[in-house]
Amino acid sequence: MIIRLILLGTVVAIIAYGNFYIFSLPEQFQWSVRNLINLAGLGFFLFIYGLSRSLRSEIFLLKRGSEKMKLALSDYSKESSVLTAINEIIEVFGKNPDLEDVLNRIADAAVRLLKVKHLLLQVYSTGEQKFFTRIIRGKEEFELGDDIIEDIILQGNSALINNLANFPRYRSFAEKGYRSLLIAPLKAREESIGLISALAREERNFTGRDLDLLTMIAAQASLIVENAHLLEKTKALSITDGLTNLFNRRHFQETIMAELKEAKNNNFPLSLAMADIDYFKNYNDLNGHPAGDEVLRQIAKILMRGTKGSDTVARYGGEEFVLILPNTTKENALLVCQRLNKNVRNYKFEREKEQPNKDLTISMGVASFPLDAPDAETLIKKADLALYQSKEKGRDLVTAA
Ligand code: GH3
Ligand code: MG
Ligand code: MG
Repeated sequence: MIIRLILLGTVVAIIAYGNFYIFSLPEQFQWSVRNLINLAGLGFFLFIYGLSRSLRSEIFLLKRGSEKMKLALSDYSKESSVLTAINEIIEVFGKNPDLEDVLNRIADAAVRLLKVKHLLLQVYSTGEQKFFTRIIRGKEEFELGDDIIEDIILQGNSALINNLANFPRYRSFAEKGYRSLLIAPLKAREESIGLISALAREERNFTGRDLDLLTMIAAQASLIVENAHLLEKTKALSITDGLTNLFNRRHFQETIMAELKEAKNNNFPLSLAMADIDYFKNYNDLNGHPAGDEVLRQIAKILMRGTKGSDTVARYGGEEFVLILPNTTKENALLVCQRLNKNVRNYKFEREKEQPNKDLTISMGVASFPLDAPDAETLIKKADLALYQSKEKGRDLVTAA
């Protein structure tokens, strides 16, 4: 506006000066020179006016561009703060892979970044057909109906709803005082493994950007869940014997240490049993190694079936097994082992009639803490010695140290 006034003033001043200047000219030129000056002044005015209009529209476009950039920058900074937060969480997870703990941190980060008070993070176990982790922030009133779970979990859909009362499927939320909701599925290799949902009770319109942020968080949470599952699987594999599926010797060594410590702390007895297949070389020689492997698997099953969940059954070596029976006296351990011994004797193995004693059997030795040994090493030695005595006495026997 000011520029335009100055411009107008300048043009008026030039025309006025021009008109004044005309009087010093000979009279026959005055009329045409005046017209010339007035026309030039008007033309100049129009030219500058046009220029200022086009400049103004350019300034307007620039301003709009800069607003857009500001918005994009704020989106970018939101995204980068999500990534920074999640990266920190992943770092924590790398040091201490505790899934429950890391999902709690993700829930806290989501609450902070989306500025919501109510959040639900659920991880679905496809094997067990139920949620096995459920993290809630805010009121404990989240109960997603089967139809919503079906939509999110089975179809892998997201949801952004700002007026929950208008959606019959979500009416239960509206009845509990919620107004808006966001849901994003957790996915691992195209399969839904859970969901994350943010809810608002206050007047709030979630935007597409909010859903994008939640989806980003969901993607990172999915990776963490998948990694945790892989880690669990790897860990399980590392302590399992591939042939029999029993625990391996390494895990047995760790377990006996831990169980002995527990027994010492609580003044409980602990028994250890060693078992070895009788004339197994003979069985292998007659029936081949694969048939021998099958026997190992069958005996592993018999031992597992005949023991409690708190007992540990492990493959100690080639055709040797070891059992840890926590909180079990020597007498009771002997009874357990005699039953296991009988179960193997009674089991009908392929071509067992060709064994030297017409049967496929095991020999066992039992030793107990604190009666026979104060530590793991001595306990194993004593049980092994007792097993050797069972062999000496003719096999298919249980001997106590
Ligand atoms: P004993 O009654 O004195 O224990 O006689 P044995 O023949 O069972 O004992 P020995 O130590 O002479 O032979 C053990 C056999 O166990 C030899 C080996 O081929 C077999 N064996 C060890 N590990 C495996 C395995 O993983 N698979 C199979 N099929 N056989 C195995
Ligand atoms: Mg042996
Ligand atoms: Mg043997």
